[in-house]
Amino acid sequence: SRKLGNGRQSPTSPLKLFGLAKKRINDIFVDISKYMHETNTFLVEIAQEEGIVEQAQGEQTAKYIEKVRGIQEMLGRDRMKVAFYGRTSNGKSTVINAMLRSKILPTGIGHTTNCFLQVEGTDSEEAYILTEDQPQPLSVQSISGLAHALSTVRLKPDSTIHICWPKNKCSLLKDDVIFLDSPGIDLSPDMDSWIDRHCLDADVFVLVANAESTLMQTEKNFFHKVSTKLSKPNIFILNNRWDASAAEPEMQEEVKQQHLERSVAFLADELKVVDRFEAESHVFFVSARETLVTRVHQETGTPTPSGALLEGFQGRVFEFCNFERKFEECISQSVYLQECISQSAVQTKFEQHTANGKLITSDVRMIMESVFEASAKRKKCCQQENHEAQDKLDYTAKQLNLLSAEIKDKIKQMTEEVERKVSNAFTEEIRRLAILVDEFDR
Ligand code: GDP
Repeated sequence: SRKLGNGRQSPTSPLKLFGLAKKRINDIFVDISKYMHETNTFLVEIAQEEGIVEQAQGEQTAKYIEKVRGIQEMLGRDRMKVAFYGRTSNGKSTVINAMLRSKILPTGIGHTTNCFLQVEGTDSEEAYILTEDQPQPLSVQSISGLAHALSTVRLKPDSTIHICWPKNKCSLLKDDVIFLDSPGIDLSPDMDSWIDRHCLDADVFVLVANAESTLMQTEKNFFHKVSTKLSKPNIFILNNRWDASAAEPEMQEEVKQQHLERSVAFLADELKVVDRFEAESHVFFVSARETLVTRVHQETGTPTPSGALLEGFQGRVFEFCNFERKFEECISQSVYLQECISQSAVQTKFEQHTANGKLITSDVRMIMESVFEASAKRKKCCQQENHEAQDKLDYTAKQLNLLSAEIKDKIKQMTEEVERKVSNAFTEEIRRLAILVDEFDR
């Protein structure tokens, strides 16, 4: 995660890498799909030729077409999901907005308390909302339009509203990260169904805690449940609203140590998802409100109103950047294969698809090779048949030649015979005529 000074990712950031790898593997599967279709059409065309294509080979390529289609669909869905949990008003939506550098999610509104809000990128120029019970997307022209649209949709508890935001407006969305904002954990949810429906596919969990109070048992219980269902989930604790500490600078360090100790004990001793040393690097003291205000003004190039930021805000904004850097590093590490910590999520997510792609292409190559061999055999057979036919033709021609030479001889003999007979007859006739003339003269 190499963030540049202005907060945008450098080309080597793990997320960029994920995006690039995804595009590359997608392009490869587009090609594989094209070859599969060409192969299948070719096999169907030559299927009439007996002895070249076996029925099973045609069926296998048709199956592979479906398999490749399935992989392409899965690749389309493969995104990095970050889920945010915490009590209502701890600042979950504000944290997401700060990360997205834009006030996308409405904050402090009550309409969405019961449902999940998922922010994901779209290639479309305009934002829209998708709900689970309405097939039609709801158009959203602006952020205020989004709050209005959310207030008009009838929400089923525990449902997910998809906020599809133009990718060109936000670099994290461009890199296929999706953000899930959950209803407040304090609303006594049916945690099992929450976890089953919304958490099992999350790559990173962020617990947004309130630094003005302490970690609540409900928040802890939730993550205890999560860690029974997922092996070693990647959890961050954001002690948000740390700007409140500016009012009591003399207590700041002491309070911070207390929060830090409790957060580390929770991650390392209770959940046992990381050791104490690693746990410390998963706990941050931030002010999402200040970070958001600063970033929104940075984006629009307008000065941040001085009253919006409290004493020591630079440190808190810096801490927020540290959180993002660590978050990106974590997201790039396999969450599914924690035991091989060096393995990146890029590998984990695409490894299976790559293996399948290789298997399909090598299998189809074998099919095509055996078809090629069968057709080469067939060609040889045909050539041999041709050869035999040619031999027969040559023999017949030779016979004919011999025959015609014989006939010529015979005709010659006959002609000579006829000539001889005619000339004999003539000679005889002339002799007879000469005798007659002689007698007559006498
Ligand atoms: P959520 O219910 O957890 O999503 O909380 P929201 O993001 O909607 O925030 C609730 C209220 O807390 C809003 O009025 C925010 O402006 C405010 N808020 C969020 N983060 C901070 C923070 O870091 N400091 C302060 N002072 N207020 C914050």
